[in-house]
Parts: sequence; structure tokens; C-alpha cells
Amino acid sequence: MLEIKNLHVKLEEEDKQILKGVDLTVEPGKVHAIMGPNGSGKSTLSYVLSGRDGYEVTEGEATLLGEDILEMEPEERAAAGLFLAFQYPVEIPGVGNMTFLRTAVNAQRKARGEDEMSAAEFLKVIRAKAKELQIDADMLKRPVNVGFSGGEKKRNEILQMAMLEPKMCILDETDSGLDVDAMKLVSDGVNALRSEGRSFLVITHYQRLLNHIQPDVVHIMSDGRIVKTGGPELALEVEENGYGDILGEVA
Ligand code: ADP
Ligand code: MG
Ligand code: MG
Repeated sequence: MLEIKNLHVKLEEEDKQILKGVDLTVEPGKVHAIMGPNGSGKSTLSYVLSGRDGYEVTEGEATLLGEDILEMEPEERAAAGLFLAFQYPVEIPGVGNMTFLRTAVNAQRKARGEDEMSAAEFLKVIRAKAKELQIDADMLKRPVNVGFSGGEKKRNEILQMAMLEPKMCILDETDSGLDVDAMKLVSDGVNALRSEGRSFLVITHYQRLLNHIQPDVVHIMSDGRIVKTGGPELALEVEENGYGDILGEVA
């Protein structure tokens, strides 16, 4: 699904190397988690994959279903099936949540050469998905994320994911700032979207999210590289002993 080889990335503004040779292969239908201390480059990796400005790839490659995504515009990456859920979802005053989602869904369909969804069809689908995810119909009418609680913002991202039906979903610390109940709702949403043809990359600072979203593979990132890969037990090891032991052992 996603194959990253020897990815090196520096900031455009200053001569600072942030990713220093990331190797990662995510198979179809699998959930991979990336953990690692603050500042290790986890967010940078997700930004670079989604096509955010300000970064320069100096070496390496990244392919989605065999296609080079680093050469694509952000919207082309989305049309190819990539979705990034942000650590801090943005508020968009003046743009209704429903309008936003319908525009996004139809832009993606158009990019794929598919017919647009009619207003009636869209309404039917979004109502059903919102209900499934326990999202209040009222939230659909409000401006995107404006005045939403932390939990509502994250749930809204899950709704976006459900509507866009991506193949490769990246969640960057989507658990930060959530209470236990909200985290459970987000996890339930992700688990409901798990399928054979869809993979997840769950970036998290804490093990607790991974109690709800059981990963197949866990990676530890440190100083711009993936330094250790293992099963779910690796996350428990981090929870118990912190990163110190693992990073010491790798060094
Ligand atoms: P993580 O998500 O693992 O906490 P980040 O990817 O956010 O790590 O950051 C990795 C490193 O790159 C940090 O040292 C951070 O300060 C630095 N960094 C990232 N983006 C910028 C930027 N725009 N300007 C300066 N430094 C940055
Ligand atoms: Mg951080
Ligand atoms: Mg981060």
C-alpha cells in the first residue's frame, strides 16, 4: 500500500535535516503505529506524505499503490487514496461542514473521472455515516470545526475519512487532548473503517490509543529514522519503560 524508502527531508527555510532515511512498508489492510519521542519527525513524515509546503525531499522515495506520490499535488495524493487526519484540525469559519465535505467528495470523484454525487444522494450517505459515528446532525450544519470541542473535531475527521473512503489513512496524534470517552469514539470510528483494502498509519505519543486500535506492527521513530519495528508488545514496552531503554539498546 505504502512504501517509503530511505526518505530524507529537510526544511526549505533553513538548512535543517529532519528525516534522515525513513524506511517503511505498510501492507494493504494493516494498521501500523509509529511512536517516538517529541521532535523525532513523526509529524514531518505525515506532512511530507500529504504534500505540505515547506519541506524538501533530498533523497529517497514514497509510493502509494506503486505510484510515486512525492511528485503529486496534495489533491492528487488525496484522489489517489491518501488521507491525513491532523493533530490540530483547522477551523474554517463561514464554510458549512456539509458543503465542505460535499465539495471535497465531489472534487475527489472528479479527479478520479467519476460522476459527482447529487445533493440528495450525498445527504443520504452523510446522514447514515454521521449516525453510525454518533455525530449530531447539528454538527453537519455548523461551520467546519468552529466551536467544536476537541472530541467533536476528531470525530469530524473520522466522518471526513468515512466520506472520502481513502485507502491509506494517516492519523497524526489524533488522540492528543482527548478524554477517555472521546478517544474510545475515535477508536471505534477507525475500527469500523478497517478493511482489507485500507491501511492505517497511526502516529501516537502514548500507548493508550493502541489499546483501542490494535496495531499489527509498531515502529519507534527517533531522530528522523525508524529505529525499531515490532509487534503490539513494543508499544507496551514503551508504556512501561519509556523510550530510554529501546533507544539505548538501538544506539
Ligand atoms: P514529532 O511530530 O515527532 O514531535 P516533528 O516532525 O514535529 O516531530 O518535528 C521534528 C523536528 O523538526 C523537531 O526538532 C522540530 O522542532 C523540527 N521542525 C519541524 N518543523 C519545523 C519548522 N517548520 N521549523 C523549524 N523546525 C521544525
Ligand atoms: Mg510533536
Ligand atoms: Mg507531531
